[in-house]
Amino acid sequence: VQNAELKETEKPTDGDKSDEEEKEDRAAQSLLNKLIRNSLVNNTNQVEVLQRDPNSPLYSVKTFEELHLKPQLLQGVYAMGFNRPSKIQETALPMMLAEPPQNLIAQSQSGTGKTAAFVLAMLSHVDPANKWTQCLCLSPTYELTLQTGKVVEQMGKFYPEVKLAYAIRGNKMDGGSKIQEQIVIGTPGTMSDWLTKKKVIDPKKVRVFVLDEADVMIGMQGHQDQSIRIQRKLPEDCQMLLFSATFEDTVWQFAERIVPDPNVIRLKREEETLDTIKQYYVLCKDRQDKFNALCNIYGAITIAQAMIFCHTRRTAAWLSAKMAADGHQVALLSGELAVEQRAAIIERFREGKEKVLITTNVCARGIDVEQVSVVINFDLPLDKDGNPDNETYLHRIGRTGRFGKRGLAINMVDSRRSLAVLRAIEEHFNKKIVKLDTGDLDEME
Ligand code: ADP
Repeated sequence: VQNAELKETEKPTDGDKSDEEEKEDRAAQSLLNKLIRNSLVNNTNQVEVLQRDPNSPLYSVKTFEELHLKPQLLQGVYAMGFNRPSKIQETALPMMLAEPPQNLIAQSQSGTGKTAAFVLAMLSHVDPANKWTQCLCLSPTYELTLQTGKVVEQMGKFYPEVKLAYAIRGNKMDGGSKIQEQIVIGTPGTMSDWLTKKKVIDPKKVRVFVLDEADVMIGMQGHQDQSIRIQRKLPEDCQMLLFSATFEDTVWQFAERIVPDPNVIRLKREEETLDTIKQYYVLCKDRQDKFNALCNIYGAITIAQAMIFCHTRRTAAWLSAKMAADGHQVALLSGELAVEQRAAIIERFREGKEKVLITTNVCARGIDVEQVSVVINFDLPLDKDGNPDNETYLHRIGRTGRFGKRGLAINMVDSRRSLAVLRAIEEHFNKKIVKLDTGDLDEME
């Protein structure tokens, strides 16, 4: 696969947002996960399947050979280092490649092989002899579109007759004649423009329609309506596929409007647990006192790598400066940074080049740094309304199932309020959080 002309435009950053404005940015989180992930995530759960026709046999495959792919594609799959289908691919691929094509809604956390699955489906369904667009794929942002495009290019490496175009801002189309690329991926706005205003794609000739990252899509202004308008232009027998990392009610309602008569595949996230974690708290007077306690802890025990969470960017920056001045090798993960820069910092930390990673909650949400042995809540996690955020607490310090190593969590408490938050978290999980006196530090190891 070769890409059509692609013009670079400037990437926006969220550098000028204040702490309060630093909202959860799902598109950024998703991109970050893609940039730092280089293999499948472990998941021991069973795939749940809901078939449109419960009487039709359910096929699943254990090898890529069983799918009878075109040799060029099988070669592409192996060249990417894939030996066998991932859990979700075992069931999703036979459904997507069946004749007649079946519609599918699939949900599983990021890193489980969804993108690879639909890219393979698109490449399989294309007829390279036909010089018109046969597959459309919608993605929420410019950057995520490019990431998906890379996968198409990699997997289609031995299938150069298939061409790919990017419907993204900056990629101008004059209109008039139809484009020849068989696969077009892009954002809803530009895609819609290409279909209706520029008319460079004939919607009636589209055979496969993919909507990726539905949960990110619905959070973005106008994307939902535009996606539905695009879907309406496609032929009734066009295969519709929708993917999402999470599945709240709003995603489901959207999915049902995009995909008629779907098969549904779901793979639950691996549960996180506090069972293998030792939890402590330290009583402090104020922020400075918390910093002193932190230094005491560092002085007393050997910490291979720690992740420290702060409530605001300001505290994170303050703490990082103080720790650096105290001789620690710290990295600061901050919302001011572009996603690529954040990914680079996490990567360095994962490789062990940095020993301490200080971050804000928002910035680190959804990031899995599995091998961290010590997590310090410099501030306890609160939700938007200032209530104890149990889910975030679990995600920060919890480990998944049997892959989890033992860990240590230390919570800094500096007010009656934060003590109440700690008690609420303790009660919620019904797991004791033990008070730590600086004198008992030896016990922790
Ligand atoms: P998702 O779209 O669910 O986030 P991806 O398709 O991006 O997941 O896959 C996550 C990572 O695993 C990628 O690095 C991808 O190359 C790799 N991967 C996908 N499928 C397989 C497979 N069958 N075997 C090995 N690695 C795979």
